[in-house]
Amino acid sequence: MFFRKAATTLVTLFGLAFLIPALVGAPSSAAAPVAVRTIYYDASQAQEFRAAVDEGAEAWNKAVPTIVLKPATGSQATVRVYADDGWPRAIPAGFGRGTVYMGRQAVNDGFYPPRIAAHELGHILGLPDNRNGRCDYLMSGHSSPTSCKSTTPHATEAEQVRRNAGGGVLAVDTRQAAYADCFVF
Ligand SMILES: [Zn+2]
Repeated sequence: MFFRKAATTLVTLFGLAFLIPALVGAPSSAAAPVAVRTIYYDASQAQEFRAAVDEGAEAWNKAVPTIVLKPATGSQATVRVYADDGWPRAIPAGFGRGTVYMGRQAVNDGFYPPRIAAHELGHILGLPDNRNGRCDYLMSGHSSPTSCKSTTPHATEAEQVRRNAGGGVLAVDTRQAAYADCFVF
């Protein structure tokens, strides 16, 4: 039976031969995996917004497998999150670096704190504002309604962050940018 099927088997193997390099290649690509960028953020001074910041960070972790935002304190942290009475804002200093202010003014206007946190962290991850009014975009900021409680990045936002994390040229150079009025009408 085996030999009668040999020809067929050979054809099958020939076909598989194209796949084998990919399969063989898998362990070597595992040896050189796509780097996961770990970004430590310090929300210890974010006061009542600590949990909101964690939630915003987790939303990015879920959406972009090649980044991990992790809470940390001290010098390890490249992102510092504060709370104050102004507008929420971000001062990026390069990918995964910068300062976020969880301003209470937008919260008082009814915006959802975890979404604000996810938006401001989006700036730290290299995204600009995109005031298209859509709840399914995090970077729509204040242009989306206060009823919007989504913390999930749009697929295009997640893809841009994935590319930014890959060390390529940032679509938006965040080094000089500050996003001071994301939630100001
Ligand atoms: Zn913004």
